[in-house]
Amino acid sequence: MDVLAGMDFGGTSVKIGLVLKNGTLLSHGLIAIDPCADFESIMTAVARSLDSFLNAMPPGGKLVGIGIGTPGFTDEESGVLLEGCRNIPSLQGNSVRRYIADRFGVPTVTDNDATCAASGELLFGAGRKYSNFVLLTIGTGIGGGLVLDGKVFRGARGYAAEIGHMCIDPNGPWCICGSRGCLEQFASGTAIQAAYNQKAAKRGLEAAPSAESVADRARQGDVLAVITMREAATRIAQAFGTILNLLDLQACIVGGGVSRAGDILLGPIRAELPDYCWPLVSRSVDICAAGLSNNAGVVGAAAHMMSRLST
Ligand SMILES: [Zn+2]
Repeated sequence: MDVLAGMDFGGTSVKIGLVLKNGTLLSHGLIAIDPCADFESIMTAVARSLDSFLNAMPPGGKLVGIGIGTPGFTDEESGVLLEGCRNIPSLQGNSVRRYIADRFGVPTVTDNDATCAASGELLFGAGRKYSNFVLLTIGTGIGGGLVLDGKVFRGARGYAAEIGHMCIDPNGPWCICGSRGCLEQFASGTAIQAAYNQKAAKRGLEAAPSAESVADRARQGDVLAVITMREAATRIAQAFGTILNLLDLQACIVGGGVSRAGDILLGPIRAELPDYCWPLVSRSVDICAAGLSNNAGVVGAAAHMMSRLST
């Protein structure tokens, strides 16, 4: 029984799991990391955690590959994380891939977490129905993945699909990437929570502890939350319209905790999309929620490795 390991590096924790080739999650867990710890300490803890999963693997199980998703940009050749992973500074300039491959002795791939998520959606999620789609993962920031002609598109150096950093408003606020008016400034989890809390504070209402809770409140009929979701949806529709004009896709898939809002977020995106692209281009494009929810990062990273093994 071939088994793949998937790892998903977040700001304060690493999710780890074992995945079968049909996408079934055999086991999974999460280890907390100190994001300010040195590279060796973080990787030792991660490797020990994977050891414990492998030790508990059913008899006959064989580890055949490891997929790892991290924020930011990884150099394809060396596996060195180049930029965009400020939350865990010691990962930058180091190769998570080399460390894990040396330790476990199996093929290992590291890639941007949203790119891994696109692999997961393509193999096991909402993307199975399509050969051309875009995936937007809305978390603290916004990640993007692109599937063209049935394959994850990585661009010349693996930096493609940074949809969170598409300019939506040339006069908008400056972004951590150094540009201004990025989609992330308007529709990330951070932006949605801040926009809601600003409205709530003016009205003496209780603040929302997270973007997910804004999504939950919207679903329960909180009008301010519905308005906040709609404002984010307008910006997302704007980004999708531009992407569709450029690439003529079949679907735009939205993932991440905020997508729990369901049609409260997706409905306005569908309604507003025709305002931002050619009628023929937007017609019959599906706007849908991601198929993998919990552990999408782990399954996506494993799926990314699977797609490498099969080519
Ligand atoms: Zn940006």
